[in-house]
Amino acid sequence: MGKGAVVTARGPRLLLRQIREALAGAHGAVPAQDRLNMVVRIIARSMVAEVCSIYLRRASGELELFATEGLNPEAVHNTRLRPGEGLVGEVARLAQPISLSDAPSHPSFSYRPETGEDPFHAFLGAPLLRGGRAIGVLVVQNRAARRYDEEEVEDIQTIAMVLAETVASGELLAQAELRDVEVAPHRPERLRGQKFAEGLSFGRAVLHEAPLAPEQLLSDDPVAEEARLQQALDELRSSIDALLEGSQGKLGGTPYEVLETYRMFADDRGWNRSLEEAVRSGLTAEAAVDRVRNEHRARFANARDPYIRERLHDFEDLANRLLRVLAGDNPGQRDLPDDAILVARNLGPADLLEYPRHKLRGLLLEEGSAASHAAIVARALQIPCVGRLQGLRDRLSEGDQVIVDGETGEAYLRPRPDMLAAVESRMAVREQRRAEFDQLRDIPAVTRDGQRITLLTNAGLAVDLENLDATGAEGIGLFRTEFQFMVSDELPRLTAQTALYKLVLDAAGDRPVTFRTLDIGGDKVLPYLENEREENPALGRRAVRLGLDRPALLRMQLRALLTAAAGRELRVMFPMIATVDEFRAARELVDVECDWARRRGRPLPSLLRVGAMIECPSLLWHLDALLPLTDFVSVGTNDLMQYMFAADRTNPLVSDRYDPLSPPALRALAEIQQKCADSATPVSVCGELAGRPLEAFALITLGYNRLSAPAGGVGPVKRMILSADLNAARRGMNVLLGSSAGSVRGEIESLARKLNVDV
Ligand code: PEP
Ligand code: MG
Repeated sequence: MGKGAVVTARGPRLLLRQIREALAGAHGAVPAQDRLNMVVRIIARSMVAEVCSIYLRRASGELELFATEGLNPEAVHNTRLRPGEGLVGEVARLAQPISLSDAPSHPSFSYRPETGEDPFHAFLGAPLLRGGRAIGVLVVQNRAARRYDEEEVEDIQTIAMVLAETVASGELLAQAELRDVEVAPHRPERLRGQKFAEGLSFGRAVLHEAPLAPEQLLSDDPVAEEARLQQALDELRSSIDALLEGSQGKLGGTPYEVLETYRMFADDRGWNRSLEEAVRSGLTAEAAVDRVRNEHRARFANARDPYIRERLHDFEDLANRLLRVLAGDNPGQRDLPDDAILVARNLGPADLLEYPRHKLRGLLLEEGSAASHAAIVARALQIPCVGRLQGLRDRLSEGDQVIVDGETGEAYLRPRPDMLAAVESRMAVREQRRAEFDQLRDIPAVTRDGQRITLLTNAGLAVDLENLDATGAEGIGLFRTEFQFMVSDELPRLTAQTALYKLVLDAAGDRPVTFRTLDIGGDKVLPYLENEREENPALGRRAVRLGLDRPALLRMQLRALLTAAAGRELRVMFPMIATVDEFRAARELVDVECDWARRRGRPLPSLLRVGAMIECPSLLWHLDALLPLTDFVSVGTNDLMQYMFAADRTNPLVSDRYDPLSPPALRALAEIQQKCADSATPVSVCGELAGRPLEAFALITLGYNRLSAPAGGVGPVKRMILSADLNAARRGMNVLLGSSAGSVRGEIESLARKLNVDV
């Protein structure tokens, strides 16, 4: 039905109210079984069915008859069906309703004599869906071989949804009765994922996609509710249109093609119709979105086709956005506990930044990758984060206690008290170590044999500036300017860029800051920047390549940097330089901007240093040509390793497959260091390696004396430096460079241990 057509109120609203009233009145006083019996009786009567039964899934996976009106009461808690067994098992397996006029003649029909169901021909079953999983089945049956009409099928799904939520919220059955029922997970569980951000914490789960409370499920006025739904859909469509047209919208951080897909879904008649139908059957608009989303999830849960999974993902995202439009709020206004562990399937950096930082203890993601933006932001905010936790969302309920173990890459759901105690003592040890690092804050990083190492930190957000004082870093060795672009809904203007760079320089005072120009493209797509779809984005038009193709963009950034640094030192470097010509061209743009400012009499930086990042292996064989043109270089080991080993850093199947502590990688790093020393070009390492004590030990042994580490790595690396004797280590390292092993990690560890280095 289109907009403006007459909406007829109908459906199970009255019935649902009766159920809820019966439950509310009976709560506490009446045993759970009697409550369930009451529910099936009300449903049977209202749907003019001779039978109504509720099956719930046990932990074993079997569907157990929990209550029935019309079948033999003796069968309750005795009849159990395996997944896929019988029609009830089929409903659960398919996660879809099944309607048959003559059930016994269906091949899946499984006759259970104890139920006495042989005289019933018509069968209508709907799954109780939660989080895209069937946690039970609701069935009505009639003696006569009748067909249930579309409205009845729709209605039973709505009733099933309300039942699923009521069961899971503990309203229908007490927790004790749910012990062995797979509705709301309650056992302790350990999930293995991947470390995305260091640290250890525990707290209460806050679901990014918050579940609806049972009292939010039913609407009082379906006509008004449908109008609300339509309005929200209109708002959703126009916000997507606004983004597609490049103007400011509400959906920040989303790639262009994804927006097009969203637009397609938002217009999808099937989706719209399902939502309208659900609202007409008595659900609120929010519950309708949730129901349709659950049905989608359940239907595609087992799809292996990456295309379908991707679409399902887009669809989820769109449903979330619609829920947000309906709620009209933002996560920052949500009432969070003080020990919130945020739980999401995936998260954009902007979403994460909208939560109040001081309440976030940790972040758990079902998907994502360590190089994803949310993970980078989590590291910057020093929030422990574990990702790639399969099945996470279905195993957690809002408020569950959880441990985020960013040291091992694991999550503990509803941990036992002994587990919690163990974590608390590990946290105390960490706290003690942090206190030790604080003591080192103002001590210069000098090795035992007197080598001075400059220890800098990586930054990219305004919050990082606090870390500068807290860690005692001597400056910012890598300022990732793209973060400002990534958390913005539109291209940051010249004034906004200038303001941020000024803020950074002011906070740094006389400590040096190295700004890296925009490193976008690849996986860092900005929705407001048109970009072509690329087959291999990591090898595509990213970073300086994009900057050179769109010089206006790069020049605007350089202008902002020059303005912000007027009268003081400015250090700028270009990412992803693959050829000497690229560096020349980029440097020329700096000259052009300096001339522009000079002609207008604008003050320039007191000192300007322009450098290149060494991230592309091609440069290794052209350092003799590059180094004389640069004022400094910085080795971006994250990308250099990805390109050297041809292993996508965002792909968990290969990202950890090769070890940077291996002869080829170490020889490459040694060669860069040597060539820089020969030409007196200052060189630093600013990849994640520089922030891990063992890897940093290898780097300083190779001769690097300038490291830029993530904030969390500064203390541990400084402690390592203070305990190291490089002269002794160098001899051991030279031997390892000649090894034929694929990794010499173990050997470097032994070397460090032998020399009493704190790694
Ligand atoms: C690197 O590649 O090592 C680096 C520091 O840059 P980013 O991680 O931002 O690509
Ligand atoms: Mg890089």
